[in-house]
Amino acid sequence: MGSATKDHATVEKPGGFPSLLSKKFNITDIKQDVLKWDQEWEVAIASSTAADVLKEMSRRLDDSLFTPSDMELLYKGLRNFQNPIADILRKLLNNGHFDTVWLLLDAAEQKRHVLEGLKGASEAATIWGQDCRALCPEVTVSNLLSQGGKGFIDLLTRVSEIFGSSIEPAFLPNSWWEQASNLPNPWWGQASDVSPRKQISQSTKLVFEVATINRNKFIGHFFLSSTMSIVHDITNRSEGMKEVLHIMENTQGYVARSLAQVKTTFREKPLIRCENCTKTPEDIGQGARFMVCSVCKTKLKFGVHYCSQSCQQEHWSVHKKACGKKKVTQGLSGTKGDSLWAFSDSDPVANLMRNLPKKDGRFTLRDIGVNPCKGKRSPAAERQAEMLEADKDADYFLFTASGKPVRFVIDDLGAKMIFRTNRGVVMTQPTDTTGVNALGEYMLKLMSNYPGLSRDIILKQLCAEFGEDIAEKVVQLERVSQKRGTDTFIETWLKDWSKIFGSFSWLKLL
Ligand SMILES: [Zn+2]
Ligand SMILES: [Zn+2]
Repeated sequence: MGSATKDHATVEKPGGFPSLLSKKFNITDIKQDVLKWDQEWEVAIASSTAADVLKEMSRRLDDSLFTPSDMELLYKGLRNFQNPIADILRKLLNNGHFDTVWLLLDAAEQKRHVLEGLKGASEAATIWGQDCRALCPEVTVSNLLSQGGKGFIDLLTRVSEIFGSSIEPAFLPNSWWEQASNLPNPWWGQASDVSPRKQISQSTKLVFEVATINRNKFIGHFFLSSTMSIVHDITNRSEGMKEVLHIMENTQGYVARSLAQVKTTFREKPLIRCENCTKTPEDIGQGARFMVCSVCKTKLKFGVHYCSQSCQQEHWSVHKKACGKKKVTQGLSGTKGDSLWAFSDSDPVANLMRNLPKKDGRFTLRDIGVNPCKGKRSPAAERQAEMLEADKDADYFLFTASGKPVRFVIDDLGAKMIFRTNRGVVMTQPTDTTGVNALGEYMLKLMSNYPGLSRDIILKQLCAEFGEDIAEKVVQLERVSQKRGTDTFIETWLKDWSKIFGSFSWLKLL
C-alpha cells in the first residue's frame, strides 16, 4: 500500500507550490533528522493561529483561481479518497485486536509508527505536502501518544466514523482551524505573485475550503501510512512487536485487553491531595491555592499538602507526631505516598490493594483477608474462611482424605498477591466464582503430589466449597493453559504483567 501511495503522489503532486510554512518556520529537512523535523513542527503548530496559517496558504492562492467545477472536482476527489480509507480503518478496528496491540506497544514503538504516518502524509498527494501539518494540530506525536496511546485510537475511531459517514463534505471538525473560515484576504490590494495582472479575490472562502480538503487528505494519508506501518510489523513479527504478539497469542484475549486498558489510565505524575480533606486542586477548582507544611519542606524536603490553612489546623493533631521528624503522609490514592499512584482510581486491582488494611501507611499481603462476606458461604467454605482468619500466613488449607489440614503457603510475592486478591473475591462474594478456577489450577499444579493429597482430593474439596461445577471449570482452564505451555493462568498473568509494568519489586518493600 505504501508504494502505491507514493506512485500516486508523483503523478498527481502539483509542482507549482513551493513550501511556504516549512520555510517560514525554518523546519529541518525530514531526510536529515526526522525527530528534529517533528519537534520543530510541533513547536510551529503550537505557536500559530489559524489566521497565520491561512495567510501563508493564500500567499499564492486566492479565490479567483477556483471555478465551481474545480471545487466540485476537489470535493469528489476527497470523497473518493475517504471511502476506501474509512473501509480500511473500520476493518482494523472491528478486528478487535488492533487497538489492544497498539496500546500494548511501548511508547518508543508507538512514536515510530506515528512518525511513519507523518512522513507518509507529508510525501502524499496534497497541494502543500508537509505544510499540511500546520493545518492538523490534532495529528502530533504528543497528542496521539497521550494516555498511553489512547489519543491515537480515539482519533482513528473518529476519522473512520466521519470519513465513512454520508455527510457532505465529511470534514473532521476542528474548532481551532475553523476560526479561519471567514477571513478577508490578507493580501488583497497587493499584487499577486501568481498572476500580476489579475485582480485577486477579497475573500478567502475558497482557499479555506481547499485547505480544509487538503487537511482531511493529509489526515487520511497519515492514518493510512501509520496503520500500514503497524500492520507491516505484525505480519513480519518485527522486533518491537514481538513482546506484544507473545502476550496476545499466549494469554486469553481479555488479559491482554485489560492490560491495555490499564495502560491507558496510567497517570503520568502523582496527584496532589489535601492531607486533611483529600481534595485535589481540580476538585476545588478555580482559586485553589495549595500549601505545604513548611517544617517538613525545610527539614525533610518532603511535601505534606493542604488546600487551606483551616485544613492544616484541623489536621495538626495527627500530623504533629511526625512533623519534621519522619516522612509520613496517609498515602492518599494517586498521591506520591501511594505506591500505586500511577494506576487510576477506576482500576479494580489497584483499588483492591489500596483498600487493604495498612500498617504504618503500608498495606500487607498478609492482611488480604476473607471477610466480611457479602452473602452466604457453603459450610465447607465457611470452615476455610475461619481457618484462614485464624492463620493469616496461610494462603489456603487443603484437606487429606482423612481430613488432616495441609497449609498451602506461596513464596513468590507476585503470585501471592494475585492468589490472595482472587481468594478475597471468591470468599467475600459467594455468587462470583470466576476466580476459583485460577486458584484451583494453581494449587493442583503445586500440591497434587503432596503426601496425602491428589488431584481428585483437591478438586472434590473445591466442589464442596464452591459448587459442583467447579471441577469442570478448573479442568477447562488447565486445558487452555496447556496449549500455551507449562505455566498456569496465574503464572502467565504475572509474567505478562511484569513485562509491561515492571517487576513486583515494590511488593518486597512490605
Ligand atoms: Zn483540605
Ligand atoms: Zn510537617
